[in-house]
Amino acid sequence: MRGLSVKSVADLKAARLVAPDVALDEVAERYAIGITPAVLDLIDPDDPGDPIARQFVPSADELTTTPEERADPIGDLARSPVEGIVHRYPDRVLLKAVHVCPVYCRFCFRREMVGPQGLGTLTAAQLDAAIGYIADRPEIWEVILTGGDPLVLSPRRLRDLMERLAGIQHVKIVRFHTRVPVVEPERIDDEMVAALTASGKTTYLAVHANHPRELTAAAKAGFDRMLAGGIALISQSVLLKGVNDDVETLAALMRGFVENRIRPYYLHHPDLAPGTGHFRVGIEEGQRLVQALRGRISGLCQPVYVLDIPGGYGKADIGAASITGADGCFTVQDWQGEEHEYWSE
Ligand code: SF4
Repeated sequence: MRGLSVKSVADLKAARLVAPDVALDEVAERYAIGITPAVLDLIDPDDPGDPIARQFVPSADELTTTPEERADPIGDLARSPVEGIVHRYPDRVLLKAVHVCPVYCRFCFRREMVGPQGLGTLTAAQLDAAIGYIADRPEIWEVILTGGDPLVLSPRRLRDLMERLAGIQHVKIVRFHTRVPVVEPERIDDEMVAALTASGKTTYLAVHANHPRELTAAAKAGFDRMLAGGIALISQSVLLKGVNDDVETLAALMRGFVENRIRPYYLHHPDLAPGTGHFRVGIEEGQRLVQALRGRISGLCQPVYVLDIPGGYGKADIGAASITGADGCFTVQDWQGEEHEYWSE
């Protein structure tokens, strides 16, 4: 099985990632499965607590949902004026051209939208409308390509997209959010780097990694290629129970980013996506971990601990004082100073 991608329960069993008698068909019907060869190489199938396996190998726990979970946990649909655009803040938009990924993370906040049965790829007409929306709004300074994973697009299609953004003068920054440099590092070749920078704008790329073992030599080669090509690298990680919810792992991850010239950016509190309760840590625990990082590792290595407020109200820095409350019930302030209730176990 090594060298091939895992895409089904049968593949998982053939790769010895789940026992032959484990029933996962119902999970597989609801949520896509995807593990690339690079990720497979990182998994120790003999370690039942392997932090890489935990992120990608489905489990029956995903069938357990809690009342506060929601299909669209961060409110993308509420803030989508046209297909493929999410417009939450005045100066920036998300552009979601694809809803496919090379891997399918079991904690994914868009798990109801991504995968072969997800929202699919924008049609040519939908992409025209999305680009038109950006072009018509001079206040849009930054376009953030996310999805799905935008780097599943071929370099040719990415180049076409970047060249269209090049023609919109008020857009100054193009940012990509992607798992590809870690889970499919061979895709980060010179052609890909040229495509990512084809807009002539300033290009940022947020590398999504959650455990220091993901920062392999192959991934580093891709980071170096992107940096040499003029792409600024930042990080995004999700705080995940059983993966990185201890100070040692988080410190090694953040230091790993900095050593690879990736500026630590977001540490996300896990979103209320359906069937992901087994990944969620409590907010007080997250704050304790972030606090512990402060005293332990360089200021260069400090991420911002953020919560995406359910309903589409944007991010709040919850490492600081914008969240108050206790005993599972909190009040969190959004960027405009409005308060929202938030429940956490
Ligand atoms: S790569 Fe991102 S969008 Fe895709 S499954 Fe993972 S978290 Fe979700």
